[in-house]
Amino acid sequence: MNFEDFSLDARILAAVKTVGYIDPTPIQEQAIPIILEDKDVLGLAQTGTGKTAAFVLPILQRLTTGRLKSTRVLVVAPTRELAEQINDEFRAFSRNMKKIRSMTVYGGVGKRDQIQKLQQGYEIVVACPGRLLDLYGDRYVDFSHVDVLVLDEADRMCDMGFLPDIRRIIKLLPKKRQTLFFSATMPQDIRGLVSDFQHNPVTVQIGMIAPAETVDHALYPITQKRKKELLMTMLEQERTGQVLIFTRTKYRARNLARDLSKHKYNVTALQGNMSQNKRQKAITGFRKGKYDILVATDIAARGIDVTNVTHVINFDMPDTVDAYTHRIGRTGRAERSGIAYTFVVPEDGVMVRDIERLLKQPLERRRVANFDYGSFMPETAVDSSKNARKPKKAGHGGGSKSRQRRNTRYSRSNRRGSGANR
Ligand code: AMP
Repeated sequence: MNFEDFSLDARILAAVKTVGYIDPTPIQEQAIPIILEDKDVLGLAQTGTGKTAAFVLPILQRLTTGRLKSTRVLVVAPTRELAEQINDEFRAFSRNMKKIRSMTVYGGVGKRDQIQKLQQGYEIVVACPGRLLDLYGDRYVDFSHVDVLVLDEADRMCDMGFLPDIRRIIKLLPKKRQTLFFSATMPQDIRGLVSDFQHNPVTVQIGMIAPAETVDHALYPITQKRKKELLMTMLEQERTGQVLIFTRTKYRARNLARDLSKHKYNVTALQGNMSQNKRQKAITGFRKGKYDILVATDIAARGIDVTNVTHVINFDMPDTVDAYTHRIGRTGRAERSGIAYTFVVPEDGVMVRDIERLLKQPLERRRVANFDYGSFMPETAVDSSKNARKPKKAGHGGGSKSRQRRNTRYSRSNRRGSGANR
């Protein structure tokens, strides 16, 4: 199958060619024809599968007819970075459609430009929930002509506590519309949204929710204290390109980036405390290769599209299987092969078990060559069997029970707590 088979407008096809896509990805093959038929779609796919173009292309096709100069398409996304990326794709694929305009709406930046564009009736609005509702409250947003709604990374939005905002937004939209939800996982909150707001949706599921198969996963057992040493040795020995390192908290991200830069690495950190300007500089610098290493927390790195990442290194084990698949989604994107290494401490056994279940295979335990482990035995240090040792301390934000609960669904207090810290 190729893009010509979708009978898209010639201007859209020309833009696809310019962007350089040759064959549609599996989610594009499945979702584009259904969206073109005006059906509601529930797309279960993670970042890295090509899901953005899967909704951008048929939506642009819809905009080839019907009214302009009013907001017809509303895309809601969890973070500004993701909103910008989606907006970039709308712009790239509508480059030959001069009358179609796409804009972003999110907080942390001035309102004036956003208000002006909204008043001009930009056809596509890609928004984060908070600022959108803020501007709606001030009567700058006109939802009355919206005929397509997209919720992207819907599960992430729920994790971040946006569910009430999302429900409010959807209720403000015209009832007659197409509703497209994209989510990597299917927690209860999303099921509720689907049954309340979608009409006979067609589910399109890509590769279950497991990470891209092109990713080489491995665990590197170590103790908490020696993680930094292990990382330095690994970076010296491994042939790496762009490396994305995840830490559990923003303090750890900042400290690790500082230590790496002392060792002459081109590194930058990305964490929730930074101003929007600094975040954007870090992301752009990394994407353009000014920095070889980006040290980030989950929340800060959410949705970032960095196609050339060769290595994802989980310096700290993520709290949930979801977070693991999202982190790993940053490498091995769209057919490219990537490497995902996770540093694990003995207390991580329960999480390792859950990830292995998702991947349906045991993860290989590896040693870094020429690293002096002393009496520590990496091959046997992390037990993921049923008898896996329960974490002793609440060091990762909770004991084994709360950790297991969070694997399936975040509790509200956890969400808030982790959000503030990351
Ligand atoms: P997404 O899942 O939308 O975040 O897309 C992941 C990456 O895949 C992005 O860098 C896209 O530019 C790229 N991509 C999407 N569709 C295709 C395609 N049909 N061929 C090649 N690359 C693609």
